[in-house]
This record gives sequence, structure tokens and C-alpha cells, in this order.
Amino acid sequence: MRVDFNVPLHIGIDGRATVADDFRIAAALPTLRWLQDRGAEVVACSHLGRPANARDPRWEMDPVRERLQMLCPGIELSDNLRFDPGEKANDPAYVASLVEGFDAYVNEAFGVAHRRHASIVGPPRFLPSAAGLRLAKEVEVLGGILHAPARPFVAVVGGAKVSDKLDVLKALATKVDTLVVGGGMAFTFLAALGQGVGNSLLDVDRIEDCRSLLDSGIEILLPTDTRALEPGSTFGPNSETAGTSGGVKIIERDLPDGWTGLDIGPATAATFAEVVRGAGTVLWNGPLGAFEDRRFAEGTRVVAQAVADCEGFSVVGGGDSASALEEMGLSDKVGFLSTGGGASLSFIESGGDLPALNALRNAPNAPH
Ligand code: AMP
Repeated sequence: MRVDFNVPLHIGIDGRATVADDFRIAAALPTLRWLQDRGAEVVACSHLGRPANARDPRWEMDPVRERLQMLCPGIELSDNLRFDPGEKANDPAYVASLVEGFDAYVNEAFGVAHRRHASIVGPPRFLPSAAGLRLAKEVEVLGGILHAPARPFVAVVGGAKVSDKLDVLKALATKVDTLVVGGGMAFTFLAALGQGVGNSLLDVDRIEDCRSLLDSGIEILLPTDTRALEPGSTFGPNSETAGTSGGVKIIERDLPDGWTGLDIGPATAATFAEVVRGAGTVLWNGPLGAFEDRRFAEGTRVVAQAVADCEGFSVVGGGDSASALEEMGLSDKVGFLSTGGGASLSFIESGGDLPALNALRNAPNAPH
């Protein structure tokens, strides 16, 4: 069973690593137990962290294995897949070594469903294969909101880089009633409208793309005020204690030279929240500001609360949005928390055409 146990680790003062958040392990438990209950001998495999295609003591699976043993005894967990260069390269010899000795393959790793890696696209070419319960649920929910969303359908997209998410914004623009854009990526849109963005994140090469999206006729909500940091100051989780933090001001519309916009302002947050609360379906991905620095977390908090309050169906994808909800104790107030940030965006972008899903659809046992 391919799982996505790429979990955050906590390194103790004794240097020992433990699992800091087991959301992804918990998400795979129903499938693991289902298989065990039916007498299967299950070997799970996952990647963890970013080893450089070689064994790396920092990314051994031991802490994950320990937690898995507690949650679901009797499941074997093999070595970090990315210790072998064959995993990312989708090397046929590595695929052969993965399937050797096994009768069937289950993919329960939605978080990497958009990757054409050996353990994801390889085994279904050789073994009877199935989607795990959680992966199937991800496809059902994300497919459902794309094909028959309760309206109005509102998507809230934040995060740093507009270039990363432009394709998903374009895909969403054909589906949603309102597209709400915040975070660092909003400034390229504001620049496309001719607004001053000071020192904020700006992707000059994407201004034209943003302009055509704005001209496409769909309703796009952008920030009207910004929480900004004065020139020459730094931001980040530790800037205040480091004594380098500067003045923060709420600025309407144009940002003066040198000022950096790091969060949506209170008027924007209130407007965004109202739109979100009134949605029939809401999809949220990406923080609305540089929320790791608590001076710029307010916009993300207000939107997270609105997503939780929304009586429509809410779907949240992405690590940062999920951790913001978690921190606020709101995780159980949303309709569906996706296990895949990048994968859920790729799913939307491609209309469900992900390498992992295509591999399963073409497995020897798949209905044709
Ligand atoms: P992404 O990985 O693209 O979803 O981006 C997440 C990151 O975007 C977080 O680390 C935030 O700190 C960052 N971010 C969000 N808004 C801003 C902003 N206005 N300026 C700089 N960084 C931001």
C-alpha cells in the first residue's frame, strides 16, 4: 500500500525525532484496518522529507514506524522510497523491486497523486490495484464540487506565488461564481489594475495573465486595504523578538514606495468573510497573509473562521490553510479537509486527470 506518511517531525532536545502531527497517518487507518480485517498482510511504503536520492539518517522512517505501530499494530513500513533514485525517476527496475512478492496494490497517497513516481504509477501496471478509501473520498469530494457544486460556489486562493497558482485560478474561473484572491499573489493582480504595490511580492511576468483573468468577466474579489510593514523592517515568525520589527499600518488602495503588504486589511477581511459565509460551496487554499508572523495572521484567521461558519459545503486543501484551522481548533468545522495541497490543486487544474488515478484506471483488474 502506497501511503503518504510525509508527516512533520519534532526534534527533541535529545535529538530524537517524533511525529509532530499524525493527520496523514490517521487518514490511512480505515484502509489499513479494512485490509487487515480481511486477512491481508500489509506492507506500507511512503516517502518522508527531502532526501537527496540516497539514504539520509535525518529522513529514516523510524519515528513514523513507531507512531504507526501504536495506531495500527501489525503493519510493516518499508524504507523511505526517496532513498532510491528510482522512485522519482520512475525507473522500471525500481518498480519491479517494489512489486516483487506482492499480490495486490493499494494507493492511499492522495498527497502525491499528481506525481509520476515509481511507487505511484508503476505497480498498477503489474498488480491488481485499488484506490484506498481516503483517496477515493478525495476524488469523490473534489470531483463533486467541480461537477455539481451547490451555488454560489466561492473559491478563496491565497499564498505567496501567483505563478504557482495561475493555472488553477484559470481553471477555477470557469467553475466558480466568485474567485477571492488574497495573500502575496494578490499584488500582481492589483498591479495589473495599475495600483501601487510598494515592496510587496510582485511577479512582473504574470501581470498580463492576471489582467486577462480580470477581463474574463468572472467576479474576482481583490483586497481593498492592506496591512503593511514600513520600509526597512523585517518580518517572519521571529522578527518581533529579534527587535527588528517595524511599524505596521493599514493602508487603503495604493501602497507607498517601500511599504510591504503582508496581510489583507480589516475591511477586506470582513468583505471576504461575508462572501464566504454566504457560499453554497467554498473551496479554500492558501493563507491570506504572511501568517507565520502573528502581526499578519489576522486575515487568515478571519477567513478560516468564516469557512468554519459557512453553512454550505466547505473544502480546505493545503498544508498552511489546514494548520491555520488546526491552530484555531476549527478543523472539525469544515466539510472536508483534503490531505493533498498540491494534489488537490492539480486535480482541479486537470479536471481529475492525475497520474495516480490514470494508473489505477488502467490496472489489470480495472473495469474497461
Ligand atoms: P503557498 O506555499 O504559495 O501557499 O504560500 C504560503 C506562504 O505564503 C506562507 O508562508 C505565507 O507566509 C506566504 N504569504 C502569504 N501572503 C503573503 C504576503 N502578502 N507577502 C509575503 N508572503 C506571503
